[in-house]
Amino acid sequence: MLQFKGLTKLADFRPKRRAAVFAAIEPGKASAVVVSHLPNLRYLCGFTGSNGVLLITGRGATFYTDPRYDIQAAQECDCAVKVVTGPVWTAVARDVRRKRLTSLALESEHLSHAQWTGLAREFGKAVKLVEAKGVVEDLRAVKSPDEIARIRQAVLLGSAAYESVLEAVREGMTEQRIAAEIDHAMRLLGAEGPAFETIVAAGKRSALPHARPTAAKIRKNQLLLVDMGACLNGYMSDMTRVAHIGRPGGQARKIYDAVLEAQLAGIAAVKPGARCMDVDASARRSLKRRGLDRFFTHSLGHGLGLEIHETPRLGGKVESVLKPGMVVTIEPGVYLPEFGGVRIEDTVLVTETGVEVLTPTSKDFAVIA
Ligand code: ZN
Ligand code: ZN
Repeated sequence: MLQFKGLTKLADFRPKRRAAVFAAIEPGKASAVVVSHLPNLRYLCGFTGSNGVLLITGRGATFYTDPRYDIQAAQECDCAVKVVTGPVWTAVARDVRRKRLTSLALESEHLSHAQWTGLAREFGKAVKLVEAKGVVEDLRAVKSPDEIARIRQAVLLGSAAYESVLEAVREGMTEQRIAAEIDHAMRLLGAEGPAFETIVAAGKRSALPHARPTAAKIRKNQLLLVDMGACLNGYMSDMTRVAHIGRPGGQARKIYDAVLEAQLAGIAAVKPGARCMDVDASARRSLKRRGLDRFFTHSLGHGLGLEIHETPRLGGKVESVLKPGMVVTIEPGVYLPEFGGVRIEDTVLVTETGVEVLTPTSKDFAVIA
């Protein structure tokens, strides 16, 4: 049985993170930062519940939540906690006025239009609302050693679950059954749950990059695509593997080899300073040599951590550069509507000098007897 223990406490990093968020706001632009996106709250103050707002000023941070989380917030948070009855935002607004703050930086991409206009109405001219886009997300993109250790364990757990289930997969099992077995295996290994809804898609359905498992039975001469990940200690893993039921024919083998070559080209391009768009292009170039690039219809990969999709996105127009400590996926795919699809995905770490592939699962084309 895999063991997942012995991690240092993440709380030590949080005061530094909160200070960094405040420092990231242009001086004079806002007198406080307000965070409400749940993964960002977890990152900045440790709270894992479903309702709360964090107010960060130059003098410290206060976390607001409702009475359901009275005990939990006291256990989890390493900053001042205020448990309030009634809407949390109303209590925050009251304190903002009391503290005579004149401008607030808000996570505009995580607030609804109604929330934003409601706050604007509430404050009127007294408090200026400023958009703070991706401030916490940019910080989260570079992982601390402790976070990397957690992701590493989530990756190992996911791979262990996949490998144990793959051994037992037989012709006639349904996609849903295989997905359920994978989720079950992850739970038994200690996962909090799947990182996202497990994708199992056989035959032509493997050409749908985000297929939902169906009641269809897997049959001979089909591709079997599994895209899955584990959530462990709050951190995610992400992996895609494709197997074949029975010996693969020429077409399946050709596509598989091309995707694997592209995936290796993508991994080889990962290093500190590399632009995301250039990493994406390296995999696309590899597929182009085989005339298959037009069937690769999504970006090459994404960051992951507390969420399954995080900054940075490895897409064709993303000019930002990779930094040591970033954890991203590399997942090219080729999808032929009438035949099926192949995607191969690893979770990789950007190191000081290059790249480390965290996913240990073999990328040989597995054949299910
Ligand atoms: Zn995936
Ligand atoms: Zn992915």
